[in-house]
Amino acid sequence: MTSSPAIPTITLNNGVEIPQIGFGVFQVPNAETEAAVTAALEAGYRSIDTAAVYGNEQGVGRAIAKSGLPRDELFITSKLWNSDQGANAPRAFEETLVKLGLDQLDLYLIHWPTPARNLYLQSWEALEDIAARGLSRAIGVSNFLPVHLDHIVGLGGTVPALNQIELHPALQQRELVAANDAHGIATEAWSPLAQGAMLTNPVIVELARAVGRTPAQVILRWHLQEGRIIIPKSVTPARIAENIALFDFELDSAAIEAIATL
Ligand code: NDP
Repeated sequence: MTSSPAIPTITLNNGVEIPQIGFGVFQVPNAETEAAVTAALEAGYRSIDTAAVYGNEQGVGRAIAKSGLPRDELFITSKLWNSDQGANAPRAFEETLVKLGLDQLDLYLIHWPTPARNLYLQSWEALEDIAARGLSRAIGVSNFLPVHLDHIVGLGGTVPALNQIELHPALQQRELVAANDAHGIATEAWSPLAQGAMLTNPVIVELARAVGRTPAQVILRWHLQEGRIIIPKSVTPARIAENIALFDFELDSAAIEAIATL
């Protein structure tokens, strides 16, 4: 196991610190997840993002157990699936803990607001109870629009620590990030690489050539310099390592502005 590089952290609104880069496992089959997460932990990632609906919490749990890393060096996130919103939320959370083999999460999110179900406020109160019982160090949301954030904050209880949203150079989500900021909610970018779609963009390719890095590293470094939390996914060990080798170069302001125009 290599020693972990110094990964910056972001302090959430309840004081909990989250590593600015974590490892996502969406679409990784359960049987392949242990190997992918093990490669990530060996490359220095300490934050892992899974979800009940990914069907791979057990694979994540096996990799955590096998790593022998102290629990307090890891930051584990999972998410409440849509069909478990409302009265089922506490039971769904317990199942997530069992599958991961953990007695506490670092972050638990409502995966989607699914406003047609009209259960996200009730679900939020269930997450507040989970946090109050010390079973998750922080709680938050995912894919929430400003109107959903307003409703949750309007309950007058816990403000979500974080909103995990799709965000990459082709979808910069400035209004949604401003709404998160206004509430003191951290922004975490899912599909930070646009699932690979931006890696051949000519602006990105040229910036990568200029700094002697890969297109993926340029995009991920842009996110970091914008102050966001990112959770890139790969099942390819060389890419897993490449995607966290971001702390020995910098993009200048002209590069940041060029990406802003995409
Ligand atoms: P990403 O933007 O992280 O892109 C992943 C894709 O890019 C994979 O096909 C991967 O290929 C490829 N890739 C990764 N690194 C490189 C590289 N260095 N060079 C070339 N190709 C590369 O997409 P995801 O959609 O997976 O998003 C990341 C994470 O965000 C998810 O895993 C999940 O944890 C979270 N997420 C959350 C959602 C939500 O609703 N809350 C929705 C979607 C994602 P390969 O694996 O073959 O190497």
